[in-house]
Amino acid sequence: MKKVLFLAIISMFFISQSKAQDFPRPGCSSAIGQWMLKKKDTLGDRGVGDNYHMWDNATALKVKFMAGGSKVLRDKVKQYAKEWEKHANITFDFVTDGSAFTDLRIKLGKGYGHNSAVGTESKFRKQNEQTMNFDTLYFADADYYIASLKRKGINPPYNLNQLISEMRADPNHWNEKELKRVVMHEFGHALGLLHEQSYPGAINWKKTDSVYKYYRETQGWDKSKVDFNVFEMSNQFYTNGTEYDPKSIMHYSIAAWQTTDGYSMQDNYELSEGDKTLIAALYPKGKKESSLAVPKVDVTNVGDIKVMSDMQRGGLVITPSFDVKTNSKIGEVYFVARIADEDGYYLKAETDYYNWGGAVATYRKAVLLPNKKISYNKSSVKNLELFIPFDRLPQMGDKKIIIAFAVYLDDIKNKQMNKLMYFSTTTPLELPK
Ligand SMILES: [Zn+2]
Repeated sequence: MKKVLFLAIISMFFISQSKAQDFPRPGCSSAIGQWMLKKKDTLGDRGVGDNYHMWDNATALKVKFMAGGSKVLRDKVKQYAKEWEKHANITFDFVTDGSAFTDLRIKLGKGYGHNSAVGTESKFRKQNEQTMNFDTLYFADADYYIASLKRKGINPPYNLNQLISEMRADPNHWNEKELKRVVMHEFGHALGLLHEQSYPGAINWKKTDSVYKYYRETQGWDKSKVDFNVFEMSNQFYTNGTEYDPKSIMHYSIAAWQTTDGYSMQDNYELSEGDKTLIAALYPKGKKESSLAVPKVDVTNVGDIKVMSDMQRGGLVITPSFDVKTNSKIGEVYFVARIADEDGYYLKAETDYYNWGGAVATYRKAVLLPNKKISYNKSSVKNLELFIPFDRLPQMGDKKIIIAFAVYLDDIKNKQMNKLMYFSTTTPLELPK
């Protein structure tokens, strides 16, 4: 689905003028839970800084590049990513392509737009999948390549294929300003920051057809994606007490016609003072933990999610195996297994029992003490079982099922519920007859 979407965007770009600013550009399409199953329950987790998905303070994140991207371009990405290190107590350790385990994986390529997983949500992605995309076509130094085409006597309008062949013949002429802006923005997401235009009440969007049409035509986004990426306001809690910061690198540019009051915003090209202050508060240097820290759980070493039929008890027994580490705050967690059909649609629950957000599900609650490590189903003794009676599963015929395993956290003290800490799915499984 995602691939189709982004390919569609590329095919409709044509360079009609001979000015660099007329090159099309993708917006950042970072979205929480974008890899999730269809008909997901909405998390409503947007904000300026997603406190529940911050890395531990003073972490050295292992970062690698997926195949692709010249050394010159990679070096520039490294250089601009490290701008954040001046202010945050976080290190980006760029490791070799062959490294087996990494926290962040960067794809420099064409056709995937610019986007990144938000903070520790990178952990939901498999080691062979990227956590961040940069569309290198939009980093091209357009003025340079247009001048080159003109020297050859080729007049506008130009198309993308011409640009691509120019880049192949004479690579590594980059628009530094744009590259730096986008790299700092996406690495801001990787550190857990969200779009600044989501600040509650900051932008009075004109939610008209013309705005939806604009994002459909320039980004290929459908209505729900525009609602999610552009219009959604964050929870006040996530502002971390900051003021709205129009200079933030995490802010979209906005045209006056898109707002009811004519408010507009140009792109920002540098970290704002607000960006520096917020990231330093979230990842303080010289301190063990941020004063803004909230309860979190770290789910690691997730093994196979075993699914067995228990004919005696008349149900499915699901035993995920994983380790959990808590931070300094107490939190209540739910281990949830939702059932989806083989096409990735959650099965609709018919009753309030065995129901999680409207989907057929089974779950267990646990109150986890601070600074603990707990292993579930890692030894021969099974200490976490998720059970669902057969009669709660709709008749599936010959269709297979997918189990979506998730860990949610309730932060009672801060009244922030249902924070997604982990998510993964099984491959399609045969249901017992
Ligand atoms: Zn973004």
